Amino acid sequence: MVEKKKVAVIGAGVSGLAAAKAFKERGHAVTVIERSHALGGVWEPSRSYPDVQTQSPKDLYRYTGKPMPDHYPEWPKGPQVHAYLTDYAHENGLTPLVRYKTRVAAMERRADGCKGWTLDLEGGDGKAAKEDFDFVAVCTGQFSEKNILSHPGQETFEQAGGQVMHSSDYTDPATLKGKKVVVLGFSKSATDIAVNAVKSGAAAVTIVYLETVWRIPYFIGGLINFKRILYIRAQEKMFPGWGQSTLARLNHALAKPFVWANWRALESLLSIQLKLNKTGLRPKEPIERGINCSVPIVTPGFFDMVADGRIRAVQGTFDHYEPGTVVLTGGKRVVADMAILAVGWKLGVPFLPEEYRKKLVEPDGQYRLYRIIANPDLPDMGFVGFNSSFCTVLCAELAANWLVRYADGMLAHQPSAEEMNRNIDMMIEWKRKKRPAAGVYGGLCVAPYHFKHFDELLADMGARKKKRNPVAENLTPPNADAFARYLASTPQYRAA
Ligand SMILES: Cc1cc2nc3c(=O)[nH]c(=O)nc-3n(C[C@H](O)[C@H](O)[C@H](O)COP(=O)(O)OP(=O)(O)OC[C@H]3O[C@@H](n4cnc5c(N)ncnc54)[C@H](O)[C@@H]3O)c2cc1C
Repeated sequence: MVEKKKVAVIGAGVSGLAAAKAFKERGHAVTVIERSHALGGVWEPSRSYPDVQTQSPKDLYRYTGKPMPDHYPEWPKGPQVHAYLTDYAHENGLTPLVRYKTRVAAMERRADGCKGWTLDLEGGDGKAAKEDFDFVAVCTGQFSEKNILSHPGQETFEQAGGQVMHSSDYTDPATLKGKKVVVLGFSKSATDIAVNAVKSGAAAVTIVYLETVWRIPYFIGGLINFKRILYIRAQEKMFPGWGQSTLARLNHALAKPFVWANWRALESLLSIQLKLNKTGLRPKEPIERGINCSVPIVTPGFFDMVADGRIRAVQGTFDHYEPGTVVLTGGKRVVADMAILAVGWKLGVPFLPEEYRKKLVEPDGQYRLYRIIANPDLPDMGFVGFNSSFCTVLCAELAANWLVRYADGMLAHQPSAEEMNRNIDMMIEWKRKKRPAAGVYGGLCVAPYHFKHFDELLADMGARKKKRNPVAENLTPPNADAFARYLASTPQYRAA
């Protein structure tokens, strides 16, 4: 018999909602602890920059039980995603479980001899409290701690009327009108903000980048939705994965010339479509080597604006500020009165005690997580949504369903600590030596291996249905409705 647990879910974003639902459905008592005043995580409107929209098409950014509304566009806007998440929480009875404006400041093992953790909670009113939980699901995402960059001279730049802000603090396009804007970074948010700055009437827009990367347009060749190419199992099979059998290795060796030609053709197509040679923004690295969660989708209009000069793209990074100017490494000067730093977020679980953090993260930053969900040396806890990808909602939902079974000892194949550590070591070795691109973000990225990851999770859970017919399975993207069926085919139970 499975005992009912008191479960803390930390974070009320996409992953926290998936975790709350999975644990609640199995009969556990769930409290969702959220430091913000509202749910949604990165989609919470006060955290989103103007014009933000998903990179994933809407059928690949949804929970299994709830399609996005028909009237939503293929790539929904931030407020639409937020409304979808709010509805999801409401429909699944999750709203009353969320405790807002409460931050988990620290956690420690329970002193009463029971399993679980004591959380140090800080309320919005500054009041602190401690509370015991039997199990903790960490759902704090990869975008919770801003990466704050400072450069010499910032104070004098600001005293002269200049402004410096992190990309997540840019929420009002009116502030850019007539300004000379410089954006640091080359991620999706950097190019989104640069384009938004042009459209908002900025007097000049410069983007400063260290390296160019391959980007994927919403429609490859202007015609084919990228999901039909980059999200399919047939494409995924072109990437040698972990734990390959001898036969699979042989197949890869035989197919190498075709795979090579496939990638070169895609590079040529993208170079023409995105004017990469004309703008000097063609990356040097072969496209297949860098495909992972950091591959951004093209911001519509970005390359055209670089080509016609509305956006100036300069290679380098900030060295220091002077009044009215940002000076780059190498001495180039950019006249500016607003600097927006699209330099991302710091990975981490800051509230975890140091001794456990050392067990979680290797000295080179690689996370020790079995299936990117649990570590046997961190008992009574797990991580949902750390398995990020191009379809993070489905990843989070599968991880949540896996985690509750793991917590309850109800996986069809419940791994031993030794087996988990052996697998973690193998995966880290593979990321370090065979596929460095899989080591980005601490190794917490399953792209482009979505199907392989999902296959493992479903097998662990004992799903009796795991695949569609071979044509659909190989040539179409992951299908959320099919995954609903796979989850329903796993052994069901309830905690008493
Ligand atoms: C602009 C943008 C666009 C994106 N587009 C896509 C896309 O198209 N496709 C895709 O797959 N992914 C996309 N992503 C990635 C996105 O992060 C994930 O899809 C997903 O939203 C992550 O959800 P999460 O719940 O794991 O994390 P988050 O959304 O970051 O939520 C974490 C929550 O934890 C809370 N929290 C953190 N620390 C604490 C604490 N100590 N105490 C209490 N609460 C805490 C935070 O306040 C937050 O609400 C995008 C990300 C961004 C920023």
